[in-house]
Amino acid sequence: MEGSLRVFDDRMTVDFSDHAAVIGECSHCAGPTNNYENCAWANCNDLVLICLFCKQDPDLLFHTEACKSKAFLGSLASA
Ligand SMILES: [Zn+2]
Ligand SMILES: [Zn+2]
Repeated sequence: MEGSLRVFDDRMTVDFSDHAAVIGECSHCAGPTNNYENCAWANCNDLVLICLFCKQDPDLLFHTEACKSKAFLGSLASA
C-alpha cells in the first residue's frame, strides 16, 4: 500500500491545465484518466478505464462487481 497516498496527491495536480489529452473518466472514482487496464478476471479481459490511484487496489482492477465475484468463485472452484 506504500505509495498510494503519493499517487493520490499527484493526481490532484497534474493534467488539468497543460494537457487537454485527458479524455477518460475513472470507472470507480470518476477522476480524469486515460489509463486502461485489462479486467483482472481472465475470462473477461475487457478494458477498464481506471485511474492510477484506483489501480493500486487489486479489487478495483475488475471492471464490474460481477467480474470480481466471478473471479472469486472461479478461484474457489480451482482451489
Ligand atoms: Zn479512480
Ligand atoms: Zn470484466
